[in-house]
Amino acid sequence: MDELDELLGIGDFSAECGLSPKMLRSYAAAGLLVPAAVDRSSGYRYYSTDQLHRARVIALLRHAGISVEAIASYFQDPTDARFDRWDREIAREAAGRRRALAEARAALALGAAPPPDRRTTATRGSSMALDTFAGVASHRGTGETNQDATLVGDGLFAVADGIGGLQDGEVASRLALDTLDAAFAAGRSASGLLSACREANDAVWRQATARGTDPTMGTTLAVVAMTSDAGMLVVHAGDSRAYRLRDGQLDQLTDDHTVVGDLIRAGKLTDDDATTHPHRHVLTRALGVGPTVELDHAGVSCRAGDLFVLCTDGLSKALADDRLRTVLAGAGGAQESADRMVAAAVGNGADDDATALVVTVR
Ligand code: MG
Repeated sequence: MDELDELLGIGDFSAECGLSPKMLRSYAAAGLLVPAAVDRSSGYRYYSTDQLHRARVIALLRHAGISVEAIASYFQDPTDARFDRWDREIAREAAGRRRALAEARAALALGAAPPPDRRTTATRGSSMALDTFAGVASHRGTGETNQDATLVGDGLFAVADGIGGLQDGEVASRLALDTLDAAFAAGRSASGLLSACREANDAVWRQATARGTDPTMGTTLAVVAMTSDAGMLVVHAGDSRAYRLRDGQLDQLTDDHTVVGDLIRAGKLTDDDATTHPHRHVLTRALGVGPTVELDHAGVSCRAGDLFVLCTDGLSKALADDRLRTVLAGAGGAQESADRMVAAAVGNGADDDATALVVTVR
């Protein structure tokens, strides 16, 4: 028994390595961690102190969710490549869980939403009231999350297309619209709308810089809002767009704040060439990428029969204006228009998140 004095009983070994005696027995059975000695007469198992290191590694790998079989296989053929593979598997699984969580959240929001055409009443000045009906549709592209967000508020409609890796884009676009919604409710004038947009920029910028690393978060913003003193206003930064369809004529109300948009307006690039330009995804303005943002804003006339579209670039890149007009001409209400636009964009191979918010005025 002298040699066993240097060994640890299963209870002491368990306390040292953090694996329960039950686990130790199952790992012994699987050949993963076999006791160094067994007392012939009592059947007690003993582990050597040399085995503590392996036991602690096994405990950590189990904590990382690696199966007993996979760990046993690793110890038979220990390679770094296997750790790389586990790392990828964990990332994939985490992404899948996050996606399911986001989809569950979206499904709940959908279930809680009012019927398809959301009716809101926008008051224009004090003398004229127009009824607006809004419909929203969105399709996630090839990314792991849909980074587009939409807002249907009281006389306030907006889309935002988030920029940033992992969840950052999704956070930025939602944060911008939630901030805008709350701030506009506090001041519904034209200047109130602009300061609400600037507040949205500030909120995203603060969030982006909160971690003290290089800020990588941002979002586009396109807003159509009925103000209390200046009628309908369009405000935007980035390449999300606003259109108005009136009497069959489709007018784009926004200029894309992109490198190619600038080149097209300067007459240095055609629309066709823009679709393949290496910098076609480069924005020249966005919310949350600096402490301040330059916003374009303009008043736009609005009357019964008008239809307004807000969309992200995933949709506008997949649907040329003439195709957009055809799709809208064939649709009924706001929701059907939004659904058809997104379906047409997806049918055209949109790989980015594609979002349409349609407002009809009656
Ligand atoms: Mg996009």
